[in-house]
Amino acid sequence: MNQQSIPLLCATPGTRRELTSFHFGPADARQKVYIQASLHADETPAMLTAVLLRAQLAELEAQGALAAQVVLVPLANPVGLNQHVLGQFIGRFDLASGRNFNRHFHAFPGLLARAKETLGAHAGRNRELIRQLMREALDAQTPLTEFDSLQLALLRLSHDADLIIDLHCSLEAVMHVYTSEAGWPDIEPLARYLGSRAQLLATDSGAQAFDEAHSLLWWQLRQQMPATQPVPAGPAAVTIECRGQRDVSWESAQQDADALLDYLRWRGALLGEAKPLPELLMPATPLAGSAQFHAPCSGILVHRAKIGDWIREDDPLFDIVDPMTGEMTTVKSTAEGVFYMRRAIHFVTAGAPLGRVTGTRPIRSGVLLGA
Ligand SMILES: [Zn+2]
Repeated sequence: MNQQSIPLLCATPGTRRELTSFHFGPADARQKVYIQASLHADETPAMLTAVLLRAQLAELEAQGALAAQVVLVPLANPVGLNQHVLGQFIGRFDLASGRNFNRHFHAFPGLLARAKETLGAHAGRNRELIRQLMREALDAQTPLTEFDSLQLALLRLSHDADLIIDLHCSLEAVMHVYTSEAGWPDIEPLARYLGSRAQLLATDSGAQAFDEAHSLLWWQLRQQMPATQPVPAGPAAVTIECRGQRDVSWESAQQDADALLDYLRWRGALLGEAKPLPELLMPATPLAGSAQFHAPCSGILVHRAKIGDWIREDDPLFDIVDPMTGEMTTVKSTAEGVFYMRRAIHFVTAGAPLGRVTGTRPIRSGVLLGA
């Protein structure tokens, strides 16, 4: 195991943060796997899984069982990790700018034009050329803020990986994954090992999330480059929501670390026989089909459905009770599917997001992920 650090841009005198990565396996291996945890900082289920992964990868490396290079970043957001305000841990948004740490990864401007000048007729060789162009694009950027330097550092570590796994957690949630339509065949076995209860697919969520900085770039290149300059399939990139923020236990972290290692074995990144694939618990559904519910009025929020429930249209999901009059407003589902996440609050303001149910038909367009 080799530990590396990338210094982040120093925001103010006397502070200095760095992004730490652990590198396992042969650096010249044909396959590179990149795993990061807690990009939204206050995502401890993912963090604990990374702790277990680090120990297990070190052991596997000592046994000579790694067939791929594996890069693990257990704390993908040292900036957010230090944002504690009046007793609250604020990890999702950068307090300095209000920006979501997993949005607006926008690192490769002009890459398509450069690819048209550079790529040749051999797809395998073009893979290396595209990665070279990505490196050059990253090197050409000068970050203005600590936030920018963090995003840049994460892309530097991951841009040449064949598999990119971004471990997060939601608020109150079942295990679920986000990936692209093109990436789904590669990720489906991982969803099985994880016991994932919702698989949400989108080619472009409009959010420019970390996984899409990779998958969407390659997809766009494949769409836009002529047949004479073939672009191979890009990396498999996935965002995994390791249940809800409070779901921190040795059992679930071990279960998730084991599932990730089983999947790496299935891909040939680890030596040894892969465990038989479990059943896929729920079919994949379009992210554009997931119904998002908002509070029509303010009040006390009472849940009518449990996380993971199978919901039919018109099933009651939430009651909102006016604390002055006792008047009750019920929010019913407009979709049929899995109630895969909800917010962990019990008093809502008008318009507040409440939770989501997977659906089978696309019903939304534009930016498909929340702020
Ligand atoms: Zn997150």
